[in-house]
Amino acid sequence: MSMNSQGRPSAPNENAVSYTPKTFTGNRALDMEEPLIFEFGHFDTTGVDFDMPEAFETELGGFEREDALELPGLAEPEAMRHYVRLSRNNYAIDSGLYPLGSCTMKHNPRLNEKMARLPGFGDIHPLQPLSTVPGAIELIDQLAHWLMTMTGTSAVAMSPKAGAHGELCGMMAIKAAHTAAGRDPKIVLVPESAHGTNPATAALLGYKVVNIDARDDDGTVDLDALKRTIAEHEGNVAAIMLTNPNTCGLFERDIVEIAAAIHKADAYFYCDGANFNAIVGKARPGDLGVDAMHINLHKTFSTPHGGGGPGSGPVILSDRLAPFAPLPFIRKDGENGPVLVEAEAQLTDGEKPFGRMTAFHGQMGMYVRALSYMMSHGSDGLKQASEDAVLNANYVRVGLQDLMSLPFGERPCMHEVLFDDSFLKDTGVTTLDFAKAMIDEGYHPMTMYFPLVVHGAMLIEPTESESRASLDLFVATLRDLVMSAKDGQTDRFSGAPYFSPRRRLDETKAARKPILTWEKPAPAQAAE
Ligand SMILES: *Cc1c(COP(=O)(O)O)cnc(C)c1O
Repeated sequence: MSMNSQGRPSAPNENAVSYTPKTFTGNRALDMEEPLIFEFGHFDTTGVDFDMPEAFETELGGFEREDALELPGLAEPEAMRHYVRLSRNNYAIDSGLYPLGSCTMKHNPRLNEKMARLPGFGDIHPLQPLSTVPGAIELIDQLAHWLMTMTGTSAVAMSPKAGAHGELCGMMAIKAAHTAAGRDPKIVLVPESAHGTNPATAALLGYKVVNIDARDDDGTVDLDALKRTIAEHEGNVAAIMLTNPNTCGLFERDIVEIAAAIHKADAYFYCDGANFNAIVGKARPGDLGVDAMHINLHKTFSTPHGGGGPGSGPVILSDRLAPFAPLPFIRKDGENGPVLVEAEAQLTDGEKPFGRMTAFHGQMGMYVRALSYMMSHGSDGLKQASEDAVLNANYVRVGLQDLMSLPFGERPCMHEVLFDDSFLKDTGVTTLDFAKAMIDEGYHPMTMYFPLVVHGAMLIEPTESESRASLDLFVATLRDLVMSAKDGQTDRFSGAPYFSPRRRLDETKAARKPILTWEKPAPAQAAE
């Protein structure tokens, strides 16, 4: 091995062991193996020092706890380290590329965080008198204004707290509109490529979900199949729930005809707008015939999500659905400025809210961040963000299409690119193995096995916030992985990830039978 004059190696040791040694502590370098807090906290330790309370009489009427609370106690530095170590096991958009298709993991600009922490926004409380928060009401109203402007609609329900919650809100408005018209249709049409939340929402409201076939050549909705299905269920179709761009990353090119066919059947067009980030500034859903659409502020408008923050899913509504928007909403009141309508007693003619979705007004912190994102980008910047999102996805597509397989041929995609697993045929490597090997390379995997319309799907959404250098490294890494799969290096995949704190988990069991509480281990039996 070559050494410098101080005896320090000047090049990597080529003979270094390639196995992963076990360490005494279970830690790997500076990545710590972290137990549950219950496993190392002590009930008799505490980071705070309270005086004993003076004698007092309880007012709990006999409901006071008799046994010890048994919360794990830690000294302050121990508690600090525990949570910081755990946080280091979190993969985040702030640590690397996060190409999770359909999830739009884009950079969360720090300016937004700064705005959300302004005391006038960050320290207010929903039960505070309205007269003390006119700025917050004004901010919600401005955000609503821009959402309506960008979508070409004239009403928006702000309060839903996630995309799926927005779907529920939009579909409840649709149900209320049918009821008000004396109709009671039972069916909601959902294309094959839909996000799972769409059929779930329809089913939750008691609708029967009827599938619409996708075209084989590009995964978009087959207009003729749609018309046939509508005719088959004449008079009984409540709505279609359609994602555009769809989850194959393609624009539904017949969307205007789809809307017309739906409206002709007295049904409503619910659009899943989670992918609005691909078309902001380019197309307005209102112009396409959409009646209701949720907008994920946590995707399109860069507010943090996943473990980083709560979602927010305002729903834009067409004129026909606007009267049914849930409470609370903001009404323009001429010179008096925006007024918050919170109770039925405040309603005027024509306002027929179906109820309410949340206790208060929605995710105020996310409203601030989303408006900050919009205002700092401006209309030209938002349009460019959509264009760059599409450009980046196509850059990845072109960089990989000779090695990986595109189910619908080498045609341009929107903001995400969909591969299937046919390029892995006969390699013994699956989509899952491939994704796990990406973890060893420092990448969060792409979305796997979704959408269901293609086999072994890999849906990659780089977002506009990745630089060209970052995309080049990502493409080169995936090319390297594909070549080793084709070269028969199955070990690289079958045991992956080799370098993560946990290896292959039983993901099905984790989802179906999660262990959410800690049970105190039974005391060890005394030896007989
Ligand atoms: C993310 C997403 C949803 C659901 O949004 P949540 O905020 O996670 O509830 C619905 N549809 C599509 C297409 C999505 O990508």
